[in-house]
Amino acid sequence: MLLVSSAILLAVISLVLVNRGNTTETKDDQKDDLPGIRCPICKWRPSRSDMWMCECGEVWNTFETRGECPGCQKKWHKTQCTQCGSWSDHEDWYEKNQQRR
Ligand SMILES: [Zn+2]
Ligand SMILES: [Zn+2]
Repeated sequence: MLLVSSAILLAVISLVLVNRGNTTETKDDQKDDLPGIRCPICKWRPSRSDMWMCECGEVWNTFETRGECPGCQKKWHKTQCTQCGSWSDHEDWYEKNQQRR
């Protein structure tokens, strides 16, 4: 009886620790941001947690696939800003004045 309870308790503790680790990592490295991407109209910067929906019903982050739907492989040449509602060419979302190293 005692052994079983300890095992469950250990499992719960590990789960909490894993979640905490992910949160800290995200904050430190700012992995939530998509660097070099912003709305050409209102300059809003999307993050990895922002989602777009395809006409096939697929929901995903369009900047992780360069506008291609992972559900039906449709290539979206225009991307709608979720802030100002404007449709812009997908390529225009990528900042072009970034310095190359
Ligand atoms: Zn916008
Ligand atoms: Zn689709």
